[in-house]
Amino acid sequence: MDHIVRGVLNFRKNVYPEHKDLFGALADSQNPDVLFVTCSDSRIDPNMVTGSHPGDLFICRNAGNVIPPHSNETGGMTASIEYAVAVLGVRHIIVCGHTDCGAIKGALDIPALKGLPHVKEWLGHCRSAMEIVRERHSIPSDTCLDSKYMDEAIEENVLQQVQHLRTHPVVAAKLANGKIEIHGWVYDIKSGNIRCCGRDSMEFMDFDQYYSDYIAKISE
Ligand SMILES: [Zn+2]
Repeated sequence: MDHIVRGVLNFRKNVYPEHKDLFGALADSQNPDVLFVTCSDSRIDPNMVTGSHPGDLFICRNAGNVIPPHSNETGGMTASIEYAVAVLGVRHIIVCGHTDCGAIKGALDIPALKGLPHVKEWLGHCRSAMEIVRERHSIPSDTCLDSKYMDEAIEENVLQQVQHLRTHPVVAAKLANGKIEIHGWVYDIKSGNIRCCGRDSMEFMDFDQYYSDYIAKISE
């Protein structure tokens, strides 16, 4: 805990004064452009990876960057998505998975999650993704998936959560009139690279290829 306390003291003494105007402007309102859904994993820093600042990203995190499909039951994710889209008017939603994800390791072998009833139930939201991987490799559905399928399962999970996201009425409505764009990402912790899908195609591709239009615009 020492470094946390030291960090807060440093924030107060050095960081805050440097960004006083920004914090002042954000004191009474926020207007983020992006809803960023990612895993709770300590190794993912959405602001560092995207070079963004306080006020830029509305961030929702949980184990496995799961977005439960819309239902009449209220949950934290559902309420946060509704608020971000309907009230804050975000124009982009990024669903960001990552390599070496502990949640996906769990989803590969659900029966092994003894003593973790809530994790087990939560990862049920990843089941279709795991079944797709099993089907593709002709693995029986009651068999645990080998870790060699990890990267594939991580990508399929992002695709599945993107599908769930589309079932949320506020998202469906904005998608229908082109007011929102969904991006699926997989962040590679070791290399720092990001693979993406979602705008035109559900095939994952390199970041530079996926955002070639943005990159061309930036470098004009
Ligand atoms: Zn994770």
